[in-house]
Amino acid sequence: MPGAVSSAEQVLPVRNERGFFEIRLESIGGLGANVAAQIFAEAGVLYADLNGSNFASYGSEKKGSPVKGFVRFAPSDVEIRDATPVERPHVLAIFHEALIRSGPGVLGGLYPDSIVIVNTRKGAAEMAEILGRTTGKVGVLRALDIAVEEGSRVNMAMLGALAKACPFLEPEAVEEAIRGSLGVRYPKLLPANLKAFWRGYNEVTFLDLDADGAAEAAEEAPFVRPGPLLGYETAPVGGTITAAGNSINKDLSASRQGFLPEFIREKCTDCAQCDLVCPDMCFVWEEGLDARGRPAMVLKGIDYQYCKGCLKCVEACPFDALKTIAEEDGWAEAHRVPHVWLAPVAAASDGAAGEAGAASLQEGE
Ligand code: SF4
Ligand code: SF4
Repeated sequence: MPGAVSSAEQVLPVRNERGFFEIRLESIGGLGANVAAQIFAEAGVLYADLNGSNFASYGSEKKGSPVKGFVRFAPSDVEIRDATPVERPHVLAIFHEALIRSGPGVLGGLYPDSIVIVNTRKGAAEMAEILGRTTGKVGVLRALDIAVEEGSRVNMAMLGALAKACPFLEPEAVEEAIRGSLGVRYPKLLPANLKAFWRGYNEVTFLDLDADGAAEAAEEAPFVRPGPLLGYETAPVGGTITAAGNSINKDLSASRQGFLPEFIREKCTDCAQCDLVCPDMCFVWEEGLDARGRPAMVLKGIDYQYCKGCLKCVEACPFDALKTIAEEDGWAEAHRVPHVWLAPVAAASDGAAGEAGAASLQEGE
């Protein structure tokens, strides 16, 4: 009935001009954002008298590639005929801290009073500063640690945090949706998944930056869709990528899911089994001497810029010279052994630096 206020309309805290409450999940393949979006939307539709929809957007469907999950809710008398990506989320959940480095591509479109939830070991105040948020709410939780400790996945802990951020959905409703989804498909894993969900719900902490009404005073920033550098009108003939050696600037650290290999030089025999299985050319070698003093290539270390944390090298090493460790903030940067040609070229942001890099390469540095 036009003008009627449904129960759902009363509980949805805020809606956009089309009548929707919208959520965006920023993640990477393997962390389960798509499944989390499905479960959350189901919980709203089945147990909270809401209309809901969800979908995801990703490139190549593989571990480590960026994934966006979207959820829309509306009162039951408002139809959702919209399958466009959520550009202006009321709640933004970031499943992997390294994604923050993507800037507007991940953080774009927030309202002043949007809630941002981040899987991180940092505190909420520090995270708010990193995000550049001065209004809204920032929530933090150690979702990866919870997932590892409970034998679950990051998505369950993040679902718990989402449920806390969206009180119009009872956490018991989300639990029922998890039972109806994962409980049917993977019944043996249900207890671990539920534990991770409830820990996410209970352990997320929020910092309210709007205590003094800051969000009301703030101006809304328009959503800006980051465009590709090259397009139909600007791509070179034939689509050739002209930035020479562009792949050396690739940063795969966001693909790691909390673990990476530590190299123990004393145990290494330079057998190169690790390098044979590594998909991303992470191992850095230099000329040296073998155990008998003969000239040989010697493994110097790992260039973690390229390491996606697949841990194949750890399995392959016959001498326990590679060990799986949980990644702490800054560890990879501190222990990275850069490929010798990386430093001059990666640092080249202008012509002079580029020429210096080329000169270094010619000198064999
Ligand atoms: S974990 Fe090992 S094999 Fe996998 S990308 Fe990193 S260095 Fe290579
Ligand atoms: S497989 Fe192990 S022992 Fe062999 S080179 Fe790699 S790290 Fe060293």
